[in-house]
Amino acid sequence: MANHLYDALFGRHERSAADFLILPDGSRLSHAAFGAMAARYASALRGAGLEPGDRVALQMDKSPDMLAVIAGAIQAGVVFLPLNTAYTPAEVGYFVADAGARLLLCDGRSEALLAPVATTAGARLATVNADGSGSFAEAARAAAPGPAVARGPEDLAALLYTSGTTGRSKGAMMSHANLLSNAKVLVDFWRFTDRDVLLHALPIFHTHGLFVATNVALLAGCPMIFLPKFDADQVIRFLPEATAMMGVPTFYTRLIEDPRLTRDLVAKVRLFISGSAPLLAETHRQWEARTGHRILERYGMTETNMNTSNPYEGERRPGTVGFPLPGVELKVCDGEGREVQRGQIGTIEVRGPNVFKGYWMMPEKTAEELHADGFFITGDLGFVDADGYVTIVGRGKDLIITGGFNVYPKEVELAIDALPGVLESAVIAAPHPDFGEGVVAVIVAEAGATLDEATIRASLSETLATFKQPKVVAFRASLPRNTMGKVQKAVLRDEFRDIFAS
Ligand code: AMP
Repeated sequence: MANHLYDALFGRHERSAADFLILPDGSRLSHAAFGAMAARYASALRGAGLEPGDRVALQMDKSPDMLAVIAGAIQAGVVFLPLNTAYTPAEVGYFVADAGARLLLCDGRSEALLAPVATTAGARLATVNADGSGSFAEAARAAAPGPAVARGPEDLAALLYTSGTTGRSKGAMMSHANLLSNAKVLVDFWRFTDRDVLLHALPIFHTHGLFVATNVALLAGCPMIFLPKFDADQVIRFLPEATAMMGVPTFYTRLIEDPRLTRDLVAKVRLFISGSAPLLAETHRQWEARTGHRILERYGMTETNMNTSNPYEGERRPGTVGFPLPGVELKVCDGEGREVQRGQIGTIEVRGPNVFKGYWMMPEKTAEELHADGFFITGDLGFVDADGYVTIVGRGKDLIITGGFNVYPKEVELAIDALPGVLESAVIAAPHPDFGEGVVAVIVAEAGATLDEATIRASLSETLATFKQPKVVAFRASLPRNTMGKVQKAVLRDEFRDIFAS
């Protein structure tokens, strides 16, 4: 019986002795061995009473077993929701209850903490540890593998909760066709084949590590060097074996700081890809100077998978996210939903087979953001230049309106980042009694550099209109970031909320 996603990603490798996972200790797991693990997890899910369409939540450390649970869920037609390992038990409880998950799988060490929230949410709790032990892992080992359950392209595969920087996070419903269509486009566009070896150091609870990196490797039939997390030592150890790496910008900035990063180290690599947060043009240039490689930057989000990419051949333009991927339509609209002229900033909307089915149990929220004509309002502000390259200037909610003028934080950040001695910056709004909002700049200095407010202000007054210039300049040792490398502007907004109060 056909299972749209399972057949394409896992089914066709079921008997393959080729390597699928290369683990940090050097051991290898073949596709066939992994497939057998997944099939046992599928049986264990059925054994736990989960029917096709039921939900299983997982908050687990990244491991082959976690991936096998996910593959098993797809095989059994069970909708999976992978949860960030940083979520507190109260947050996990919210997701389990919201999704109506019947089963919550976790690591043994969080079992006691999660037991009360699982009970309140009406879910069973069982354990799978990264080393393959745990109550559910044992149940899977004892189970007989069964066939894949029939699932069509429009059936739900996963609920992926958005990072929820504004309001409660929402469950994005991803269908089998959403995930498979995007993986197919990416394999072609980035030229992945079974001769590749993908270095995988991303988490697999997020779209980047799970649906971009893992699905691309599975579809291309190439092995992954599967690291539990980003660790510069391990990445440097394995880079000589890799032909491709996908990372968030912080992977690249951390590696640049390491003297072991040389052209020789990456001699076998054909492609470095970055996404999930903006890659500074400066990082792009430094990486090229050190390795000879131009990082390929792409743009996507939980609800849409990948939308745009810089070209494989042709100019990879720093500071841009490239062109809409094949099959993806992209337009930039004003506040009334009218398309603006090329070069003008507006809200990015996208349509295509990659776009999700809506937010779980939130029909009103879905209707607000996903139009009947299929266009999804991403909430990202950006523009398309004369050559068709897309540039993201920030999230709509980060836009600053001061004295009635729009200030795009990215423009101010770029001006600040270009000043000598500045490593990076974040520009935010704080409530202001006269202007409505006032511009605040938080700056991190390069190692060894000393910066002062007066010099920064004097330099910016030469490049930025007065209303764009920060009214407050603060210095910090680092910017708050989440695990995907995104600067947490909400944390900064909280910190500076009262700065103009008196
Ligand atoms: P998430 O749903 O966690 O994947 O976050 C998606 C958001 O990350 C997007 O809506 C963008 O705001 C941001 N993002 C992803 N890739 C890029 C990129 N290459 N440049 C700038 N922002 C990005």
